[in-house]
Amino acid sequence: MERVEAKDYVFHRDFTKEYPMIVRAEGVYLYDEQGNRYLDASSGAIAANLGHGVTEIAEAMAEQAKTAGFVHTLRFETKVLHELAAEIGKMAPAPLNRVYFTSGGSEANESAMKLARQYHRDRGKLEKHIVIGRWQGYHGNTLGSLSAGGDIKRRQPYTPNLAKFEHIYSPYCHRCPYSRTEEICQREKRMPCAEELERLVKEIGPEFVSSFICEPIVGSQQGAVVPPKGYLQRVREICDQYEIVLIIDEVMTGFGRTGTDFAIEQFGVVPDIITFGKGVSAGYAPLAGMIVSDQIVESLVANGNGRFIHGYTFSGHPVSVAAGLAAVRYYKQKNVLANGKEQGEYLFQRLRDLQKRHSSMGQIRGKGLLVGFELLADRSRDQLFPPSFGAADRLNHEALKRGAVFYPGAGTIDGVNGDHLLIGPPLTITREEIDELVAILDQSLAAFE
Ligand code: PLP
Repeated sequence: MERVEAKDYVFHRDFTKEYPMIVRAEGVYLYDEQGNRYLDASSGAIAANLGHGVTEIAEAMAEQAKTAGFVHTLRFETKVLHELAAEIGKMAPAPLNRVYFTSGGSEANESAMKLARQYHRDRGKLEKHIVIGRWQGYHGNTLGSLSAGGDIKRRQPYTPNLAKFEHIYSPYCHRCPYSRTEEICQREKRMPCAEELERLVKEIGPEFVSSFICEPIVGSQQGAVVPPKGYLQRVREICDQYEIVLIIDEVMTGFGRTGTDFAIEQFGVVPDIITFGKGVSAGYAPLAGMIVSDQIVESLVANGNGRFIHGYTFSGHPVSVAAGLAAVRYYKQKNVLANGKEQGEYLFQRLRDLQKRHSSMGQIRGKGLLVGFELLADRSRDQLFPPSFGAADRLNHEALKRGAVFYPGAGTIDGVNGDHLLIGPPLTITREEIDELVAILDQSLAAFE
């Protein structure tokens, strides 16, 4: 391959594609070198929650880089690290108080699953090592996090030799894999999707199961599907009964994305570990982590020589943490969550209107500004597109041509989930910008259909 330009040295995400060169970003917009403007209707990958060009965050990062650009947490700590941990610890439900930082969400989930294993091991339960995840879930791209989730496309090249994790189906009342409806489950007070967790634990043997990991509202794998009432409570009960660490992955849903600091607050359930990422620094720097319950930390101190046998060079990187601290303060000072909630409701209403005109729009769901809808080949017959058609990618391509970028999600091969479009603009978006987003979606759907 002849190398002519600098870009010829880049290991691109997809060598068959050309990517626009972004030269500037401000508010909800990205600008490329040709002068095209894109409305960032997916906050990158649901990360740029505060929009682009927030000078308070940029200045805090520059200041920290000048003061102490890198400090290794194996030997030292920094004031910004303490301050951000305190902010996040206070945000999380008690008794989740201890905050551990990583660079990305995949690392955060790896850390949580390893900590769960060490927790059992320290207490003499050496065999408790198996992780259960869900087929409709995504926890990252490292081998362990990928094994915990169910992203078929990303798992396939490594099958059958991915790490052996177990899985259950996520609840999806709209197309229930157990052929039930939410009404039946609520009436009978029994949810097969939750009971499946107990069945699987018994089949494996509770003495081998270490943790259960799930997203409170499923993001990229399902398109903002909210679990039915009581589901997460039942999961919590099962985890308690069999001494399984409950890890709630809030990498996408945390920091106000669904209207509250963490989505789990809305379900009245307290997990043992919450993992976070993306929105914590609003995308300004690689930053993620986990919030751990006092009980796990106390056990580590009492039974594990006080040390989590783990660690990354960039854990608690001062510049990333400074970005996080400035972002967390910005969320509060500018009342960003209230705006996100209000604009989320408005977006929902506008999408319902749009649905009357577009036969390809299926169920609309979500919370706050994490909203998704299913794409249908034929609504009159409730027929999904075949996954190989790439419906969501095609629709996103039409949107890109018209100046907006969404977060497309492919249908699952087992056919339980269809293609969907995830919409998650910055929480700072205005009503007028939502109108523009909907207008572009309207034209894109017309071209797609
Ligand atoms: N968990 C969830 C729910 C996510 O949506 C993602 C990324 O999309 C991850 C984990 C992985 O995070 P990262 O890409 O920062 O490693």
